[in-house]
Amino acid sequence: MINIKNGTRLLLVTALWGANLVGADGYNPEAIKSGRVDPSMHLQQGSNQLEAQKINSVIYKATGFGNTFMVVTSEGNVIIDTSLPSMAPKHKSLLNAVDDGPVHSIIITHGHGDHTGGVGLWREPQTKVIAQTNMVEFLHYQQRLKGLFMQRNSAQFGFDLTSPTDASANESSGVNMLPNTLFDQQLDFTLGKEKFQLLHTPAETYDALTVWMPEYKAAFVGDLYYRSFPNIYTLRGTKPRWALDYIASIDRVLALKPEILLPSHGEPIFGNKNISAAMTRYRNAIQYVHDETVRGMNAGKDVYSLMRDIKLPEMLNVGEAYGWVSWSVRGIYEGYTGWFDGAPANMYAQSPQSIYPDLVGLSGGSGKIVNLAQQHLEQGDAVKALLLVEAAMAAEPNNHAVLTMRLQILSVLRNASANLNETGWLTHGINQTQQNLEQID
Ligand SMILES: [Zn+2]
Repeated sequence: MINIKNGTRLLLVTALWGANLVGADGYNPEAIKSGRVDPSMHLQQGSNQLEAQKINSVIYKATGFGNTFMVVTSEGNVIIDTSLPSMAPKHKSLLNAVDDGPVHSIIITHGHGDHTGGVGLWREPQTKVIAQTNMVEFLHYQQRLKGLFMQRNSAQFGFDLTSPTDASANESSGVNMLPNTLFDQQLDFTLGKEKFQLLHTPAETYDALTVWMPEYKAAFVGDLYYRSFPNIYTLRGTKPRWALDYIASIDRVLALKPEILLPSHGEPIFGNKNISAAMTRYRNAIQYVHDETVRGMNAGKDVYSLMRDIKLPEMLNVGEAYGWVSWSVRGIYEGYTGWFDGAPANMYAQSPQSIYPDLVGLSGGSGKIVNLAQQHLEQGDAVKALLLVEAAMAAEPNNHAVLTMRLQILSVLRNASANLNETGWLTHGINQTQQNLEQID
């Protein structure tokens, strides 16, 4: 069902599913580490699901990137998030097999494409599409930068997440998918016997909401929690995501004392003790990274030092399979200050890279640079090796030895990576370098 352009990748994915290398939530850090897993693996979550998962007597879940939830009521069903356009038809058929009553409401936890992708498919003439009021502006923002996001998403995830596969997906894209019911801080309603409370819980996006069902103490938190340090900054590009918003919103959810936590990515957590432990640790990890970044900024430290130095203490180590602490440090730093770092040379419209050809020439040519890069690589400093090769490429973009060295370094980094987004961008670099090599051969 996934819109994958590359048949080889699909075969790889299928083979890995068959070999049980993938966890229930669709990815396996060990497999990524071994270099055998494409980042698009993350998008395969739920592809082997045969029937909707029953959470309790009224709540059902279809698994994907992300999940779709359905709450069954005597006055029609409530759909919470609708996954990607490519996954929505499967989710709809799994959930309709449980109950195919009218869709009273669709609640969107925030306006990212992996939550809005099936709105057009699920929406019926009478259906309310409910969102937090900031979602309208957020959809316009994504639409305004559609060209950039298509390029970045296809690089980071290995293929185009947003390409419409049918008319309903088309309707779901950008501003065409406008909600018809908006709220600011809180919206309460009752349907049949079921009570719903919608709370504004900004974090990954400023339109994010949590759905709270007090009767069951169930919280549908969207992307407020997942099983990795969060993407406080995502490499595909984003407006600043405020760490302090995450903290306030997690506190708001914790204060409800949930017994069922239903994130839009990954599996549910049951029992307040487990939920409280997991979310408090997650919250404290974000707080730690935020506070250490602010402390370093006020002490006059530069962003690269802080990216290197700030590490989660063991008790707060929530893993970095998706978000990465160092990217978040830079996201927080530059979210607060913007781009200027105080160096006079960086005020002007000329990049540091513009003098690379001069430096490479002075050093005696790209051959010497490649040799030095090789030494760094052998000594375990692949990043320094990569930086040298970037300089050589600026001087001689079509040099076979330079490109071959770049390919080697990127492959070493990818094989060592246990982070899906890092792996995505390294794979993108490898593909580009291979194409460059083919063109000059
Ligand atoms: Zn999401």
